[in-house]
Amino acid sequence: MDAAAEPTPRLSFVIPVLNEGETLDTLYAKIAATIQAHDLGPFEVIFVDDGSTDDSWARVTTLAAAPPPVRGLRFRRNFGKAAALAAGFAEARGEVVFTLDADLQDDPEEIPRFLEKLDEGYDLVSGWKKDRHDPLEKRLPSKLFNAVACRAGGVRLHDMNCGFKAYRREVPPTLKLYGELHRYMPVLAHAEGFRVTEIPVRHHPREHGVSKYGWKRYFKGLLDLLTVLATTRFLDRPGHLFGGLGLGASAIGFLILFYISCMKLIAGVPISGRPLFFLGILLMLLGGQLISLGVIAELIIRFQRHDNSSKIVERIGKP
Ligand code: UDP
Ligand code: MG
Repeated sequence: MDAAAEPTPRLSFVIPVLNEGETLDTLYAKIAATIQAHDLGPFEVIFVDDGSTDDSWARVTTLAAAPPPVRGLRFRRNFGKAAALAAGFAEARGEVVFTLDADLQDDPEEIPRFLEKLDEGYDLVSGWKKDRHDPLEKRLPSKLFNAVACRAGGVRLHDMNCGFKAYRREVPPTLKLYGELHRYMPVLAHAEGFRVTEIPVRHHPREHGVSKYGWKRYFKGLLDLLTVLATTRFLDRPGHLFGGLGLGASAIGFLILFYISCMKLIAGVPISGRPLFFLGILLMLLGGQLISLGVIAELIIRFQRHDNSSKIVERIGKP
């Protein structure tokens, strides 16, 4: 088939790969089989080799040697899953962009169910590993992480961090993805006003290779949560984030100092030497610091360009 006659893919699959050479052939075969069985139209698979040191790139090269739809991108070193996904998104041409892990833990047979859900009017459908085949020391912190992240991020999902997701084309370009923020795709999309939901998906134990993340990821993840909140919910009003915390701290500090002052005046209880006294002073000072930090943050974003074009979903009438 010559390049001109090549159909534009309807579905794109972006697959981050770090030392998963053993599974790539099977994964591709499974995706292709599902697409064919359900007649889902032209598709493309973009493998992003995130600095593998095994034969992953050789496998991708072999797969891509046959006529489309396989393409590969190779990073010079390991830059992380978020970077790999972002690089893949930038290349994807389909109306719907899927991401899935390369390790065969996600089951390509679920693809049609994601599409059905998107057709219900959602912009992002996230997989939910309801019956998860990972070690307990990974599942427990994951539960906690999800609960905190979903509450703070304002989305209702059981499993924010599942690698298996389907996005309508317009979603990925609006999400600023770097560092390890791939864990927060649903929160980032929700903050942009996209409709986000989940479907339970089958999950398989890892049979080849090793996991690239341990339970430590959740500590880093919680730090990232601060970044996500600061850059989504509070982006245009950092004064509210810091000012809110600051007001809270000073209010508690004030109440404490007020209480021990009253105790001194009424009951003659001496103030000095009371631990509460120090706590009160500490909280008042902390509150003042946080409030002024908020003011500085407000001054900084005052000098930024505020672009609203990505917020507009439809227009009517001539300008
Ligand atoms: N991955 C990657 N770069 C990294 C770490 C992981 O591209 O720095 C890929 C990895 O090859 C896999 C996916 O991200 O396709 C998820 O990783 P893993 O299966 O190790 O995570 P887990 O299933 O243990 O959460
Ligand atoms: Mg995995």
